[in-house]
Amino acid sequence: MAAGTHFSGTDTRSSSGDTFSLSCSPCHLCPRDCGADRAVSPGYCGQLDAPTAARAALHHWEEPCISGTRGSGTIFFTGCSLRCCFCQNYHISQENLGKTVTPAGLCRMMLRLQDEAPTISIW
Ligand code: SF4
Repeated sequence: MAAGTHFSGTDTRSSSGDTFSLSCSPCHLCPRDCGADRAVSPGYCGQLDAPTAARAALHHWEEPCISGTRGSGTIFFTGCSLRCCFCQNYHISQENLGKTVTPAGLCRMMLRLQDEAPTISIW
């Protein structure tokens, strides 16, 4: 993966085959807009330039209007730029609990969840 490029590839859902890329060196991906060079050091959210996730599974217990009776396919990404003092996912959001995943691995997670659940939530 090229330095400064978080995800890149071709959007195969687009009839035009548009390419996409999200730069995170400097990073302006969220409203915190800290401008970190995530190829070198973590941003305010605590994350470097590779996606990190703590859990990818069906989620049954919250937001019943979304999860319904079969659950929603949910990915808990590591890190957060809000730092809420009462965060119920503190170990994930602030203590870096999770594993680095490749973009291809992340795509496989999403496709598996898409097959298992009628709705998808990305946290
Ligand atoms: S807090 Fe994280 S996602 Fe937000 S701009 Fe900074 S490095 Fe990017």
